[in-house]
Amino acid sequence: MNRVAIAVPVPLRRVFDYAVPDALAAALGPGQRVRVPFARRELIGVVVGPVRDEPPPAYEIKPVIALIDAQPLLSTALLALCQWTADYYLHPLGEVIAAALPGPLRRGEQPAIRPPEGLRLTDAGRAALPEVPSRSTATRALLALLASGPCAIAAVRGQLPGSAAAVKRALDAGWVERCADDGIPRALQPPLPLTAPQAGVLAALEAGIGRFGVSLLEGVTGSGKTELYLRLTEAVLAGGGQVLVLAPEIGLTPQLAARFKARFGDGVASFHSGLGEAERARHWLAAASGEARIVVGTRSAALVPMPRLQLVIVDEEHDGSYKQQDGLRYHARDVAIVRARDAGAMVVLGSATPSLETLRNAQDGRYRHLQLDRRVHDTPPPRIHLLDVRHAVLENGLSPTMVDAVARHLDQGHQSLLFLNRRGYAPVLLCHDCGYVMPCPNCDARLVVHRARKRLACHHCGHVEPQPPACPDCGGRQVPIGQGTERIEDALALRFPEARIERVDSDRLKSGAALARLLADVQAGDVDVLVGTQVLAKGHDFAGLQFAGLVDVDQALFGSDFRALERMGQLVTQVAGRVGRGGEPGEVILQTHHPEHPLLKLLVERGYPAFAAALMAERRQFLLPPFAHLALLRVEARTDGEVMAFLRKAKALLPSSSTIEALGPAPATMARRAGFQRGQLLLKSGSRGALHRGLEGWLPEIEAMGQQTRLRWSLDVDPGDLF
Ligand code: ADP
Ligand code: ZN
Repeated sequence: MNRVAIAVPVPLRRVFDYAVPDALAAALGPGQRVRVPFARRELIGVVVGPVRDEPPPAYEIKPVIALIDAQPLLSTALLALCQWTADYYLHPLGEVIAAALPGPLRRGEQPAIRPPEGLRLTDAGRAALPEVPSRSTATRALLALLASGPCAIAAVRGQLPGSAAAVKRALDAGWVERCADDGIPRALQPPLPLTAPQAGVLAALEAGIGRFGVSLLEGVTGSGKTELYLRLTEAVLAGGGQVLVLAPEIGLTPQLAARFKARFGDGVASFHSGLGEAERARHWLAAASGEARIVVGTRSAALVPMPRLQLVIVDEEHDGSYKQQDGLRYHARDVAIVRARDAGAMVVLGSATPSLETLRNAQDGRYRHLQLDRRVHDTPPPRIHLLDVRHAVLENGLSPTMVDAVARHLDQGHQSLLFLNRRGYAPVLLCHDCGYVMPCPNCDARLVVHRARKRLACHHCGHVEPQPPACPDCGGRQVPIGQGTERIEDALALRFPEARIERVDSDRLKSGAALARLLADVQAGDVDVLVGTQVLAKGHDFAGLQFAGLVDVDQALFGSDFRALERMGQLVTQVAGRVGRGGEPGEVILQTHHPEHPLLKLLVERGYPAFAAALMAERRQFLLPPFAHLALLRVEARTDGEVMAFLRKAKALLPSSSTIEALGPAPATMARRAGFQRGQLLLKSGSRGALHRGLEGWLPEIEAMGQQTRLRWSLDVDPGDLF
């Protein structure tokens, strides 16, 4: 009896055997999608092994209903990558595959065949050209344009607006025909002549083309890293390779993709959640066929198939957004490195502020460490001024020194940026009469005041309610305490009514397109002051920015997460790096109540590398990553008792001989969220192998326990946050 192993998208960490009808036996192989019965449903599964002829088992096995793909949709390489991801993150293979497929393909739809994207004149068209009546201006213009050579349809539209009808008529008449747009020459942006430090780094990188190897490119903001990505890409494309470029934020991909398109023309596919499903599927298929030579995308692009992958670039490699926080909790940088290893491709990890994990790999000689420590235009980097605000009169969180600095830069026609990693108007609404603080009904959290929309919101569960006219407890007057970006924006607007002030945070800019429009205005010099959260700190290039004010980073100094300080140092350095790129040195002020904090002083006086070295020593001392490997078992239930009982039982099931240390169980930092009680057990080991072997033996027991209760649990390998 013929049967075959199939991965189906269900939350079970196993694949399922299905019987293969004789008619299908010869046609079925790994990577093809099939329709299969599962429980009382039909699901789309993917074949993950060869058809085997084995004696029928004692239990009934159901047959495959239908074969969807005549050819494998998933290559062996992609299947292997999905399998590695499933094993490493201890996640069901079927769900990993589902996450790797764009919606239409996941649902079993047939990939649409797209007509080629170029146009050229036929002999008939060439003959007809002199005879086209002069009143048919659009057709004449089209034929004349194509007479000088084939052209991409997009370029025809650009040069002859409103030509769609003429194109259709000309196609119908047989005067023009579609052709592949590969190799159609177009005006591309030429490479910049490299500076001497850039040339040195490029030579070192180019020597690594053609085999696996990871290089950390540590370069201050504006040191020309992106230019090097482009140069290296050029060299890889010349050898017929494909290039994967990852960016941490959806807002950064259009900017990055645009730079690649300007240099290399078509063949650049973007891939991120901001695209429609159909478009994602199209780009996925273009990458799989090799038609897209370059893929620029966010986290999910790490799983896009690229058969000729030769180069992986991870920009801003330190960024926490590369780690997915729910479902398949993978780290896109790490998955990308694994796939590069399997493909024999090289990897470049770029950052001005590398993560401690990557720095340690570089120190241990596993990664090459290349540095660019000066900006291309050689503007000296700004000095960060630590401003002691302990006794200052703060108005809306801003010290007079900060406000004066904004005023001074406005006078000089400069742009300023005020950074505060807290959106909303104020984080707390307090009753001035009785001290009552508005809590979230579902979480151990306070409601954040959002004044523009006249409401209170919880940033943890999404609960919103109108702001009450008076204190619900005593009827007293409520006052907003503390500040968010909205409040800073309001305060500046009052103080500088003539200035154009724009707020950049996820409340204000829901889409990448809105952010791109705003950034264009900033580039054009139309915006005077930007107020924003970390959305602003990342990667964007602001030519006219001369001043940055960091309103409040003190919270991170005492953050409960072991990565809080690392993130703070990265953010501060990234924000400061945006300043003074136009040739003039800039100015940066950081307000703090802790000017004597040793790590803050180190960061400001000696820069990120010294700061990172100090953090590294701490991590070594306390055996935290990158000196230990972590996994976090998180549990949520209606009652605290259920949570703790589950965690205690789970802890007891850990093999006593294992070298895994279990810390906890403990309530999560926010013990109640969205109506659930939450707790966790932290697992730690000095050896990644030991941790994984331990988890693999332990997890089936947790799964069995989980099936007997209704509580929710998850296991997070290499957690980004410990709350
Ligand atoms: P990074 O990615 O390190 O922040 P970029 O590659 O974006 O740096 O370079 C910063 C700025 O300097 C960009 O405007 C870029 O066009 C410019 N630039 C980079 N390399 C050169 C070069 N060799 N000559 C002139 N300008 C350059
Ligand atoms: Zn809440």
